[in-house]
Amino acid sequence: MTGNTPGFDTLAVHAGTEPDAATGARQVPIYQSTSYVFRDADHAARLFNLEEVGYIYSRLTNPTVSALANRVTALEGGAGGIACSSGHAAQIMALFPLMAPGCNIVSSSRLYGGTITQFSQTIRRFGWSATFVDTDDLEAVKAAIDENTRALFCETIANPGGYVTDLGAMAKIADEAGIPLIVDNTTATPWLCKPIEHGATLVVHSATKYLTGNGTVTGGIVVDSGQFDWSASDKFPSLSQPEPAYHGLTFHAALGPMAFTFHSIAVGLRDLGMTMNPQGAHYTLMGIETLGLRMERHVKNAQAVAEWLEKDPRVEAVTYAGLPSSPWHERAQRIVPKGAGALFTVAIKGGYDACVRLVDGLKLFSHVANLGDTRSLIIHPASTTHRQLDEEQQVQAGAAPNVVRISIGIEDVADIIADLDQGLAVATA
Ligand SMILES: *Cc1c(COP(=O)(O)O)cnc(C)c1O
Repeated sequence: MTGNTPGFDTLAVHAGTEPDAATGARQVPIYQSTSYVFRDADHAARLFNLEEVGYIYSRLTNPTVSALANRVTALEGGAGGIACSSGHAAQIMALFPLMAPGCNIVSSSRLYGGTITQFSQTIRRFGWSATFVDTDDLEAVKAAIDENTRALFCETIANPGGYVTDLGAMAKIADEAGIPLIVDNTTATPWLCKPIEHGATLVVHSATKYLTGNGTVTGGIVVDSGQFDWSASDKFPSLSQPEPAYHGLTFHAALGPMAFTFHSIAVGLRDLGMTMNPQGAHYTLMGIETLGLRMERHVKNAQAVAEWLEKDPRVEAVTYAGLPSSPWHERAQRIVPKGAGALFTVAIKGGYDACVRLVDGLKLFSHVANLGDTRSLIIHPASTTHRQLDEEQQVQAGAAPNVVRISIGIEDVADIIADLDQGLAVATA
């Protein structure tokens, strides 16, 4: 501990978890129970009225799942948080209290591929929409906001190219517009960046990636800073006005900085049911205990591999923001000073065919549609995740036919480089 404020690694091991009150169990027990016995009828009524905090039913809250939400909330420096079944569920859960039919979000165009689909297609079924902008063009971001905009959305380090977003500039625009900034912090993790310190209101995670860390379970987290004034305008009636979906409770007036979190539990999880299960929460809690150790190795390996690749004559370009050649190098020093993540793209001489041969020729790397695993992973977006796009769209998305995306693991860096060396030999023979 440093003074009274525990450091990151201490919180990663301890936050959200007292020894079990009933048994003294030191590790967080997996509370494999759907319901919790009320002390008496009055106790039950108080829980349902949110007059007392406690467990009712595991679609809403479960002790193991709450421990996880509280731990990530502590790591991100938020006021409250919820865990849910996947990263995509977390994104819907973050938007749900803010949106209504006819409302829109303004989102960075540099996003995880699945998020582009969720925002451009699926949310339309709810009557919501997204306007995509290049977040390096701050005037374009401002111009895209209209009276129906309810949030700005971006990723700290964006997939697939390792692009770093100027979170402070985005938060300033959101503030001026009276709307929250939502940051997907999956690829940075709170070890590299805490978006709330840069002015974000909500932080979302795919816990599937680095938080769990070894590719075992899907999960998602939403953390609220507790600092946004939901009552400053009439834009967020679910939080600032009597909520008809919860017997007329005015969440912000009643619960202050916990309004978003309680709404997400009492209405969002209750009615959308995108709940994390206690077994999944257990794996993610175990993963987070070593988050700092793993991230330190992930970024050290990524930096070494990016430097090695950039010098290789078989490689055309490397997009890692940890390299001085990156247009986002200076920004990375401010936003993610401990390292620019471990996810980047590499353009290979020899185009599409060479990329396919590289992916097939690697032995240590796994060819999968995942990232943030302890293992090194590779994918060729143009033949997989970005296959549906035409070539111009692929280039715009940073997924041109000659590009592979790699997620650097925590293996010995010499072995990672040796595998890429032999793979590139096969690819460009
Ligand atoms: C994987 C991912 C998601 C989606 O998360 P799931 O857990 O797969 O639903 C969202 N954003 C980013 C940046 C991701 O990497």
